Amino acid sequence: MLENKDQKTTSIASLGEFGLIEHLTKHFKINQESTLKSIGDDAAVLDFKDKKVIVSTDLLIEGVHFDLSYMPLKHLGYKAIVANVSDICAMNAVPTQVTVSVAVSNRFPLEAMEELFAGITLAANAYNVDVIGGDTTSSQKGLIISITAIGEANLDEIAYRSGAAQTDLLVVSGDLGAAYMGLQVLEREKQVFQVNPNNQPILDDYTYLIERQLKPEARNDVKELLEKLEIKPTAMIDISDGLSSEVMHICKQNKLGCNLYEEKIPVDPQLINVCEEFNVDITTIALNGGEDYELLFTIKMEDFEKIKHNPNFTIIGHMVAESEGMHLVTRANTKIELKARGWNSLMEE
Ligand code: ADP
Ligand code: MG
Repeated sequence: MLENKDQKTTSIASLGEFGLIEHLTKHFKINQESTLKSIGDDAAVLDFKDKKVIVSTDLLIEGVHFDLSYMPLKHLGYKAIVANVSDICAMNAVPTQVTVSVAVSNRFPLEAMEELFAGITLAANAYNVDVIGGDTTSSQKGLIISITAIGEANLDEIAYRSGAAQTDLLVVSGDLGAAYMGLQVLEREKQVFQVNPNNQPILDDYTYLIERQLKPEARNDVKELLEKLEIKPTAMIDISDGLSSEVMHICKQNKLGCNLYEEKIPVDPQLINVCEEFNVDITTIALNGGEDYELLFTIKMEDFEKIKHNPNFTIIGHMVAESEGMHLVTRANTKIELKARGWNSLMEE
């Protein structure tokens, strides 16, 4: 994972801006019918006919949102696309195109950019999104990546953060907390490596956690899964910032409260083991960890039977009146007020 200084590298400057763009973008394929014109002109042209168009943008800054000492560039490229695709999925829409803008310093050779774009290409293929443009420029020091994702949906399919009713159930896809603990494992290994570079990390017990951190997947399957169950989500949000804060967003947007049940929160067995090892509370991590690109949504109470045994989804609670507040109901059946905690504070227990 760490840089190999002996590799032969090519300076970006030797290609020039246009050479670089051509080199990095020549492998992108176009699959979407809605893409009329992609890379190669002043702007792309899209045609969504009678569909609604959904747009979302993210900015990723080296040292703030990612650390290249344990995040390989290929994974970073993949994850950057995933994070944006996830936002489109969280509108209950289908991702169709992305634009990719990068600012890069001369610290990075061409080969590093090739790795980044290899990850972007992989993700674009995996999620069937066309890369239709972007911008390439220089930065003084770090790497900056901005992705815009575009998607389509019928008007009646779109799920906003608002739309939940007082009796709705709260449902989450997948499991929670793994990405955060994956990062803790990687950070620990980095420190061990810095003390003694001959220490090779043994990560066998953490494969799932590390994969959730380094190669997360967006839930572009949820829209279709719900369609098959004949369930329309009343409100939806992606929980990349942690379950607790996103549940609170849903509550506030809908002027409602909620009861979230600790025993229902889905976690992977690897998470349970690693939380014991790090001596941190599993529920705290699952509630606040973040970077799990899962979807949180509300459904009508009468849809309970349709979803209750589905392995993709877990009912974790229900909405209540605003005056009842937002609570976690613990295993001991006590009620704790929900708080959104920054993930920086998580390890300071
Ligand atoms: P402009 O001068 O209009 O900014 P550029 O020369 O920067 O155009 O870009 C030429 C073409 O390459 C455009 O279609 C642009 O969208 C595309 N492009 C530039 N950088 C990237 C990138 N990092 N990823 C994908 N497409 C890019
Ligand atoms: Mg440009």
